[in-house]
Amino acid sequence: MRRRLGALPVVREFPWRATRDPWRVLVAEVCCQQTQAHRAVEAYERVCGRFDSPAACAAATLAEVLDAWRGLGYYRRAKALHEAARQIVERHGGRVPDDLDSLLALPGIGPYTARAVLAFAFERDVGIVDTNVGRVLSRAIANRRLGRLDAQRLANSLVEPGRGWTHNQALLDLGAAHCTSVPRCAGCALRPCCKWRRGGSVTADPATDSAGVSRRQARFAGSDREGRGRLLAAVLDGPVRLSDVASVIGCQDDLLRATRVAATLCNEGLLQRRAGVLAVASSSASTER
Ligand code: SF4
Repeated sequence: MRRRLGALPVVREFPWRATRDPWRVLVAEVCCQQTQAHRAVEAYERVCGRFDSPAACAAATLAEVLDAWRGLGYYRRAKALHEAARQIVERHGGRVPDDLDSLLALPGIGPYTARAVLAFAFERDVGIVDTNVGRVLSRAIANRRLGRLDAQRLANSLVEPGRGWTHNQALLDLGAAHCTSVPRCAGCALRPCCKWRRGGSVTADPATDSAGVSRRQARFAGSDREGRGRLLAAVLDGPVRLSDVASVIGCQDDLLRATRVAATLCNEGLLQRRAGVLAVASSSASTER
């Protein structure tokens, strides 16, 4: 059953909203995974500036792609994007595919990102469910916790034909500006019809553990995530001796943590140990150079 939400406004401006280039849209969506959109702008422009097509990215080394990704964190995403670019070249003639199954088969592309590419690059009428939209769906429309399939069906049912791009961007904006983890209902366009709000918001927040809604991230300062970012940034400037890892990370009194952080980056295929030093993994280096 198709439901109507009315025309919600698109309010935020991002460089990727001015394009329908599937590669740029894909880069934007990967940059925005686990990251607030405004924090992804700089890296998005750097990645697109250096690699203006899947072919350009596929021909680069992993070190070059990681270097373009600097500052954004979660470097596994950069490695996945690099591998996705190679598969796009090998299997799709260098063009980002425009069907759900082919997109889902690419490294690092999950149900949200695949549908976001369909909606934002190819203007398909599919619903997307990320953390922002997931909160809106579970609170305003369903007033209950939603499972993954339920949420996807509901998201699809809300898209009016021909309005997939605008509708999804507007829902993302509403979720980011109003339907945040602690909702700011004043000024929310859905306030008059929001089921949770109309019920007085007296029940437990239905967005908790609902599909697509991510949990609050653990503290960054002092975390392994911070340590991985520091170590990777240092290695991008040149090989780091294993004996220096703890001081690079800033945990000289916790050698176990230093070992764990280095091992994680090696296991993820981002770094490799070579003769007592850590360097960017070369297994993904282009064979075309
Ligand atoms: S009225 Fe409040 S709870 Fe309902 S959608 Fe808007 S911000 Fe979310």
